[in-house]
Amino acid sequence: MRCRFCQSEILRNLTLTQLLKFSPVYFNHCCASCYLEIVKVEFTQRGFCPYCRKKTKEDICQDCQLWQKEYQGFKLDHHYLYEHNEKMSDYFKTYKFLGDIRMADTFSADIQQELVSYVKQGFIIVPIPVSRKRLEIRGFNQVEQFLKEANIPYQKILKKRRDTASQSEKTREERLKMEQPFYISKRDRRKVTNQSILVVDDVYTTGRTILYAYDQLNNYHPLEIKSFSITR
Ligand SMILES: [Zn+2]
Ligand SMILES: [Zn+2]
Repeated sequence: MRCRFCQSEILRNLTLTQLLKFSPVYFNHCCASCYLEIVKVEFTQRGFCPYCRKKTKEDICQDCQLWQKEYQGFKLDHHYLYEHNEKMSDYFKTYKFLGDIRMADTFSADIQQELVSYVKQGFIIVPIPVSRKRLEIRGFNQVEQFLKEANIPYQKILKKRRDTASQSEKTREERLKMEQPFYISKRDRRKVTNQSILVVDDVYTTGRTILYAYDQLNNYHPLEIKSFSITR
């Protein structure tokens, strides 16, 4: 087993408990020295935005303050694994932009550990979709791919619309509706009603994408929505 970043050999040291367990064991394909360059975030009550868990000195981060103005009844419950630092930015360059599918299992153990509790609680895991064009270029959906590697079951409830034309002279609300990049097929709508949904993306930047996902899902009255990304 090799590190996906530096190709150095990683020894699998199974603990006795892991050996005695009959369930599969998941590994990060990231060596100890590369892992040192990654910042895994331990969330505490203070110092983090209560909505997107960005590190902040303010009560609510700048991004979420803007969303509160944009969205009536703004609600967000987002968690992530790592800080989006240089190492992680390199990771996504190789994985997404160079389309290196082998990178999908780099953090399988961490992703598995984080998401399996949602699955056990009955959450439906919903990946953010990519456009058909993007899928043709890259050959895979990067979110679905890391979920597969971590053996997390998911449902492709959100679909990506074709690019919509530009819109001016519309009210803010109309614009938001027009710009909505996702749709849910008739068949899938009832799957959302009264369900707990976890939306999963790779990177959380301003929250724009995730909030469109919440907005679209909310049309079909889920019990609750939470979200997760690898980095923020
Ligand atoms: Zn390494
Ligand atoms: Zn925030």
